[in-house]
Amino acid sequence: MKIFFKTYGCQMNVHDTEVMKGLLVNSGHTIVTELKTADLVVINTCAVREKSENKVYSLIGRLKKGGYKVGITGCVAQAMSDKLKNYDVEFIIGTRAITSITEAVEGTKKIDLEDHICEVNAATPALRSQKKHAWVNIIAGCDKFCTYCIVPYTRGRELSRPLEDIVDEVKLLALQGYNQVTFLGQNVDSYGKDMDNMSLAKLLEISQRIEGMERFWFLTSYPSDITTELIDTVAKYPKLSKNFHIPAQSGSDRILKKMNRRYSQSEYLELVNEIRSKVENSTIGGDIIVGFPTETDEDFEETLSLVKAARYIRLNVAPYSPRFGTVASKFYPDDVPYEVKKIRIAKLTSLQHDIEKSLNEKIIGQEVEIMIEGNSADRSYGRTIDNRMVFVDDKIPEGEILKVRLTAFKSGTLYGQIGKVSVFAK
Ligand code: SAM
Ligand code: SF4
Repeated sequence: MKIFFKTYGCQMNVHDTEVMKGLLVNSGHTIVTELKTADLVVINTCAVREKSENKVYSLIGRLKKGGYKVGITGCVAQAMSDKLKNYDVEFIIGTRAITSITEAVEGTKKIDLEDHICEVNAATPALRSQKKHAWVNIIAGCDKFCTYCIVPYTRGRELSRPLEDIVDEVKLLALQGYNQVTFLGQNVDSYGKDMDNMSLAKLLEISQRIEGMERFWFLTSYPSDITTELIDTVAKYPKLSKNFHIPAQSGSDRILKKMNRRYSQSEYLELVNEIRSKVENSTIGGDIIVGFPTETDEDFEETLSLVKAARYIRLNVAPYSPRFGTVASKFYPDDVPYEVKKIRIAKLTSLQHDIEKSLNEKIIGQEVEIMIEGNSADRSYGRTIDNRMVFVDDKIPEGEILKVRLTAFKSGTLYGQIGKVSVFAK
C-alpha cells in the first residue's frame, strides 16, 4: 500500500513517525511524499493544545472530502479515541502501540491503545528523515502531572529504555554514518530514575565514547531534575551539547505552585547560574505559558523578570489552553481573556528578540565550529555545540564540521564565513 504521513507536534512524534514508516517499509509498503499518490493517509497527532487537536479534526474532514482513507496515531488517538470513533477513520493507534501500525494499515487491527512500548528497541527499523542526525527516544511518558498538561494522560507513566539497548542503537547509527544524535524524553533528565544507579549523566558519559559519534543533544529537561552530576558531565566532555532546554513555564511562584511545577523562580535562576558558572559557553532555552488561570499583571511581571535574568538563546511562548481531563481544566476557569494573552505574548516576544540580538551580536567576529545540518544550491546551515544556527554561503555536505568566523546577525539569523575544515569531517 502507498502511505502518506502527516505529523504534528514534538520531536517524539517526529521520531514515532520515523519508526512507523520503517516498520511499514519492512513489511513491503511504500511511503509516498505526494498526497495525491496515496492509498492511505496516517495522521500522527498532537494534543498539547486545543489548536493542535482541532487541526486533526479539520484535516480528517478535508481528507475524507477528497476521498482518502485515513488512520490516526499519536496523542489525540490515545486521549480522544471515543470522539474519534465517530469519525470515518480506518484505525486508532495509541502512543505506546506504534508497533501495531502494520496490522492497522493491513486492516487486521482497528484500535490499539495498549502499552507495547517495550517492543521498540535498537533492532526496530526506522525511516529517518535526516542523513547525519538521528532522534533516539530514551524515556517514554511523564510522571510530573503539571496541572495544565495532557501528556501524562496521552503518553503514560515514565519508562526508561535499558542502557544497553540505547548504546546498541547509537553504535548502529554510527555504523550507518550518523554523527550526531538527540536523546529524547518528555523529561529527558528523569532517565534512569526507575533503574538501579542510572542517570542521564551516566548515559551521556558512556555514549560519548562511541566512535564516529561527534555530538550528543538531549531534550527536554525538567528544571528540578537537572543534577550537579549532569552539569559536571556536560562541562567535562566536548561532544556533549552545551545547550540546556529547561522550560520554566512561569516566573511567578504563585502560578508555578498552581501549575504543580516543583521549583520557585529563585531556584530556577540558581540552576541557570550553576550551569553558566560550570559549563563554558553554555546557552539556555526555555518555554513559557502565558495566561494560566488567575495570572495577574503582577504575576506576568515576574515572568518578564525571569526571562530577563535567564537570557535565553531561544524561547517558545504559548497561550494557556485548557486540556480535557487535566486538573487545571477541571478546577480553574480559563479566566485570562485571549486579548490579554496576546498582549503578554507580544511583550515576551519583543523582550526575547532584544535578548537574542544582544547575545548574538556579542559573538560577532568570533570563530566557532558548526556541524552542517542542511543545504541548498549555494547555502548551508549548521549548528554550534551550544545550539546556535549559522548560515554560510556555500554548499557543504550534511554532517561536516567546519570552523566559521561569525560575520553578522540579521533578522534573527547568524551568518558566518568558512575557515578550515575540521579533521572530524566525514
Ligand atoms: N516536559 C517539558 C516541561 O517540563 O515543561 C515540556 C513538555 S510539554 C509537552 C511541551 C510544551 O507544551 C510545554 O513546555 C508547554 O509550554 C506547552 N504546553 C503544554 N501544555 C500546555 C497547555 N495546556 N497550554 C499551553 N501550552 C502547553
Ligand atoms: Fe507536561 Fe509537566 Fe510532564 Fe512536561 S513535566 S510533559 S509539562 S506534565
